[in-house]
Amino acid sequence: MSEQKEGLRVCRKCLLYTESREEFFQKLEAYIANLDEEDRTDQETYESRLQICARCPHLTDGMCVLCGCYVELRAALRVRRCPDIVRKW
Ligand code: SF4
Repeated sequence: MSEQKEGLRVCRKCLLYTESREEFFQKLEAYIANLDEEDRTDQETYESRLQICARCPHLTDGMCVLCGCYVELRAALRVRRCPDIVRKW
């Protein structure tokens, strides 16, 4: 039997020992900076979303514990929404 259950999503960033946190966050910043304009949230909305996340009890170490996303990436994507039952943004 396969160790990976069918339909289970695999986090490819679990092996943090493969690179430093600084390297990882630099890559994340570069990824966000290189998003296509059509996919990117406008700057005002982006900052507003992050201010809300910064006050949210579900934010832990830059990550939303409800969805597992780094909030700076999630907030930067126009189509993404806050995953809370009552959306905060
Ligand atoms: S995305 Fe929503 S639930 Fe997650 S940290 Fe931000 S405000 Fe909180």
